[in-house]
Amino acid sequence: MTTPHSVLRNDPATELTDVLRSVLHTGAAPFALHEPELTEVERRFVMQILDEGFVSYAGRQVGQFEAELAKACGTTDAIAVVSGTAAIHVLLHVLGIGAGQEVLCPALTFIATANAISHSGAMPHFVDCTPTDLGIDVAKLDRYLSRVASRTPDGTFNKQTGRRISAIMPVHIFGHIGEMDAIRKLAEAWKLLVVEDATESLGSRDRHGPSGGGGIAATLSFNGNKIVTTGGGGAIVTNDRELAARLKHITTTAKLPHRWNFVHDEIAFNYRLPNINAALGLGQMARLPDMLKRKRLLASRYRDGFANAKHWSFIDEPAGSSSNFWLNAVMLPEADAVLLDRTLGHLHEAGFLCRPCWTPMHLMPMYAEAPRDDLSTTESLAARIINLPSSPKLAGAPQDA
Ligand SMILES: *Cc1c(COP(=O)(O)O)cnc(C)c1O
Repeated sequence: MTTPHSVLRNDPATELTDVLRSVLHTGAAPFALHEPELTEVERRFVMQILDEGFVSYAGRQVGQFEAELAKACGTTDAIAVVSGTAAIHVLLHVLGIGAGQEVLCPALTFIATANAISHSGAMPHFVDCTPTDLGIDVAKLDRYLSRVASRTPDGTFNKQTGRRISAIMPVHIFGHIGEMDAIRKLAEAWKLLVVEDATESLGSRDRHGPSGGGGIAATLSFNGNKIVTTGGGGAIVTNDRELAARLKHITTTAKLPHRWNFVHDEIAFNYRLPNINAALGLGQMARLPDMLKRKRLLASRYRDGFANAKHWSFIDEPAGSSSNFWLNAVMLPEADAVLLDRTLGHLHEAGFLCRPCWTPMHLMPMYAEAPRDDLSTTESLAARIINLPSSPKLAGAPQDA
């Protein structure tokens, strides 16, 4: 028995699969969500390290990679570390955020944001997001803080837990920079530090400039599915030179400079990025402009592809910004977990290895008891969003390799 064509077209799973087929027609299945793109450029940088032997913590490539990152983020400094999680952890630690404190962060994020806050000893405090840019819903957060927090000359305190609320950590979901002006204003009113989780937005810009300069510091990630990869890795970027010096010292065992003696002046971390990973990163940074160009081209094809879709709307960059479109995404008009799951099954069968967005933080056992606002938008979005294949190669071969 065959299904009439009109019924098929009315089916959201069929519609999404059809649009992907038409947008990605030049590629071949399976279509991964985001593949690293490695060319002759990366090969040259890595081979040089193998020839020179500086594969570990010594070597000049880490410093060069840090200079490239600072340049791309428009900051004075960058400190390369072993992962994005480590970057957030050590940054909070150096900012004095730890036990007895809470950090506001979205419930709609990758687990690393909440885990790193926990590693610092602080408690993640989950807040809701907007259905447009997926960033923190600042108006809702302000109303919430007015109810649950008290402002004192010493800072802001959670009236229910007694803990200090010290910082807010916006996450630029899928590469889209949220309402940073509003977040800075709220942070000023509530005496909160703004610490950006910019792990998804390297190369994005808002009206103030490149992603990474919006708060006291921002963190980056270079794991294998990010826009730039070092195999695994991360960084902190900042315009605060003193903070940068502190971060460099404490991520490299707090060793005092000496030609042969081992003297360390505090309990520190070994979070330094190995030089061979930095070399790979240098190759990737050289090609970042080209990868960005193709990722934006792919996004524009998706935008066109979904312009007349009945069931799915394309999540576009916020007005006044330019997104790296790390992950392209579409959403249903209403939450429907069963339909979302059926669609994902359909897509996987057709070779499109799409994913839902993350399980919201408060729905996982270790964060079920964490303080939180009403998270209805977050919960709804988790049953509406599907991420689409977003590798730069899907919009053509590298131009500069
Ligand atoms: C990738 C990512 C991180 C950091 O991940 P690592 O794998 O530790 O480098 C943190 N937060 C978000 C939102 C991320 O997407």
